[in-house]
Amino acid sequence: RQGVVVITGASSGLGLAAAKALAETGKWHVVMACRDFLKAAKAAKSAGMADGSYTIMHLDLASLDSVRQFVAHFRRSGMPLDSLVCNAAIYRPTARTPTFTADGYEMSVGVNHLGHFLLARLLLDDLNKSDYPSRRLIILGSITGNTNTLAGNVPPKANLGDLRGLAGGLAGKNKNGSAMIDGAEDFDGAKAYKDSKICNMLTMQELHRRFHEDTGITFASLYPGCIATTGLFREHIPLFRLLFPPFQKFITKGFVSEEESGKRLAQVVSDPSLTKSGVYWSWNKDSASFENQLSQEASDPKKARKLYELSEKLVGLA
Ligand code: NDP
Repeated sequence: RQGVVVITGASSGLGLAAAKALAETGKWHVVMACRDFLKAAKAAKSAGMADGSYTIMHLDLASLDSVRQFVAHFRRSGMPLDSLVCNAAIYRPTARTPTFTADGYEMSVGVNHLGHFLLARLLLDDLNKSDYPSRRLIILGSITGNTNTLAGNVPPKANLGDLRGLAGGLAGKNKNGSAMIDGAEDFDGAKAYKDSKICNMLTMQELHRRFHEDTGITFASLYPGCIATTGLFREHIPLFRLLFPPFQKFITKGFVSEEESGKRLAQVVSDPSLTKSGVYWSWNKDSASFENQLSQEASDPKKARKLYELSEKLVGLA
């Protein structure tokens, strides 16, 4: 039978490109889990995705209620779940004041990490029930959270510290707390994004440690390359948006097109050779995949465990 893959944030950029690449194979039905139904419908049409190859379902990761409603809606559809891709993200690089999710958590970590954390935890059951030969749970990572790379060393660097800001609820319900995971006094939107990506990579590894052996589910993360043209940079200053794509193309040579990045993510979903669990995939200049090393912080098992336990509390699972 066809596999069923849920992709969050499939209304643009990488998520849309991967949705298209998977739907085109005819082997996958894609559930596009998006906050803006109409935008997703238009995006799928203009990408040329065939009617019937996808279903759009509403999911706003900035609301834990919406995550729970999405899961209920998906289950009512009767579709099995064979692969889940936690792809959606927001990036507020110039923000100096935080914004908050419906549950009162700082938006970058709330959407990129906490919303996905709840979604992944709830849908693990569904993945576990599937009879598909290779079930996978994929969470997008990034080079920018990895301080063992050049890009990861551009300030402000990711750093979760002792997670005291997260433990304090990311300024949400406790308005006197910090909106930053490390408890810093000042909000820094660029760092909040990088921190959220570390959370994504730590979560993937912790899920692997807790569930891979018993369930056989493959947990993976990836850095698809620098897709300098996506909407992720929409809140950046205009000069940055103008210069970033040529800079990545000609100087760092890390540039990758949306189409190519979509193929890479599609490989992590369905390639029979990428079944190893607990892995962070990257691609070399010849577009061949390899298992990449994570920075010390992004692979710290103690931090991963603490993050996991605190996140369970914040999303109401513990
Ligand atoms: P885009 O901004 O193009 O896509 C992000 C998607 O997330 C959009 O579909 C957006 O929806 C969705 N989204 C944002 N907020 C929410 C929310 N509250 N609920 C549901 N969906 C939401 O970015 P990219 O395609 O570049 O990024 C995709 C992933 O790739 C991210 O995880 C990012 O961290 C990662 N990545 C990107 C890199 C790059 O160079 N671009 C490099 C490394 C990793 P809407 O269309 O409605 O805005």
